Amino acid sequence: MAYLYRYHLIKTPPAEKKLKAINFLWGLCRCCGESFLAMLSIDHVQNDGHLERSGNVYSRVLNSRDRGRYQSLYLNCNQAKGRGQECQHQREARALIWQHVT
Ligand SMILES: [Zn+2]
Ligand SMILES: [Zn+2]
Repeated sequence: MAYLYRYHLIKTPPAEKKLKAINFLWGLCRCCGESFLAMLSIDHVQNDGHLERSGNVYSRVLNSRDRGRYQSLYLNCNQAKGRGQECQHQREARALIWQHVT
């Protein structure tokens, strides 16, 4: 997976469950494609994480094996999504498209 290379660069090995869960979700941010494990988090695609029991989200990802329900996102991408805003990548992508059509 995309991960193994970066994995060795991280001083503190991540919890194995996180590694497995993120790898299951393609090992990168669905927004910007970054794959630095420490910065990746699990996102609920439909923003319905509050419906789930508390506990380990990585276990839930691995148990459900549902790539439609979960995605991995970089922390800043995830935070922007949580606030209902665009992250920097989306803003820049939109700016590029705008330049292109004008
Ligand atoms: Zn991203
Ligand atoms: Zn992003």
